[in-house]
Amino acid sequence: MKCRFCDKQEIFKFLDLGTMALANSFLTAEEIAAGNESHYPLDVYFCDNCGLVQIGHVVPPDALFKEYIYFSATSDLVHKHAAYLAQSFTSRFGLNEQSQVVEIASNDGTVLSYFQKTGVKVLGIEPAINIAKVAVAAGIETCNEFFHADTATALLHSHGAADIILARHVFAHVPEIHGFVSGLKTLVAPGGVVAIEAPYLIDFVEKNEFDTVYHEHYSYLSVRAMAHLFALYGMEVFDVERVPIHGGSIIYFIGHNGAHVVSPQVAEHLAAEKAKGLDQAATYADFAGRVSALRAETLTLLRDLKAQGKRIAAYGAPAKGNTFLNYCGIGTDLVEYTVDKSPYKQNLYTPGMHLPVYHPDKLAQDMPDYVLLLAWNFAEEIIQQQQTYLAQGGRFIQAIPTVALL
Ligand SMILES: [Zn+2]
Repeated sequence: MKCRFCDKQEIFKFLDLGTMALANSFLTAEEIAAGNESHYPLDVYFCDNCGLVQIGHVVPPDALFKEYIYFSATSDLVHKHAAYLAQSFTSRFGLNEQSQVVEIASNDGTVLSYFQKTGVKVLGIEPAINIAKVAVAAGIETCNEFFHADTATALLHSHGAADIILARHVFAHVPEIHGFVSGLKTLVAPGGVVAIEAPYLIDFVEKNEFDTVYHEHYSYLSVRAMAHLFALYGMEVFDVERVPIHGGSIIYFIGHNGAHVVSPQVAEHLAAEKAKGLDQAATYADFAGRVSALRAETLTLLRDLKAQGKRIAAYGAPAKGNTFLNYCGIGTDLVEYTVDKSPYKQNLYTPGMHLPVYHPDKLAQDMPDYVLLLAWNFAEEIIQQQQTYLAQGGRFIQAIPTVALL
């Protein structure tokens, strides 16, 4: 096992979540009956040389490809965030009708559509053919490929350099990071900007977000690790910005060395990471202790409620929900079913624990006494949407960052 960013050997393993089914591989009843669901080890390491937190076991890509069927329906919050990004990038970087904005993993083109409205040229890169088609039908030019060094060279010739390359919640999901970064280096214009949005390691550690660990999520990023990685390519992180999407994310603004004034935010975030001990193995050992305690507390609460004759369901079937259920060992004996807005998941079963997935309207009709929030990053939106369930006496249980009845 060596570090995915800097190649250091002997990195520190701090969290072992056991062997798990793939978090995005939902099953049909027939597939469950066939009984050949694959399980893989899921453990997490810290590299003290570059600061990268990363999973150890890499699942063969063909086993993971199924993931791309399940990109979730775009939420209202994503629309709001996309509008903000388009407005803020356009004014900050002086984008105009000559500018080209490229988005990697552009999904159905929702985010780019907000940039397109400002008059800039847009190009999406999306490997899932069914989703790329949705974007093209909506008028967003989309290249149906995985992004890597060769894709970047081809796009540079066909479309020219990118003024902005946007990569939202994809960077940490790339197994071969060096091909990806070298592609960014190739495609971004001399004065251009690579904007990488991802969850932030400070939140991961402070908010006990162990459930965001799954096999498709290779890297848990910090300013330190990103600065170290991009320095290998003659690039630098020149600014960072915290944004509220997905329960709190960070955008790394990266350019060629010397192309942009470096904001004091970069040094401030590096100092904050150090102050919180993110450079110390002991911080991660403490984290693992809290994760184990959180599992015990959750199971105690759910078992107590069951003992009182209460019925429990869950909300959400995100990848993180499956890590949570599998790590805690929560099956249908404790939680009868979950609900999710994505029609691609409804009427299937969750990987590993095999909870049936239904439409969210089921909660208000069926009225389980308690609903465990698995999609905690959309808690506000879910609570808004479930006013009928709440008005009829239903209650939500939060598990991350701490176990609580809402
Ligand atoms: Zn490293």
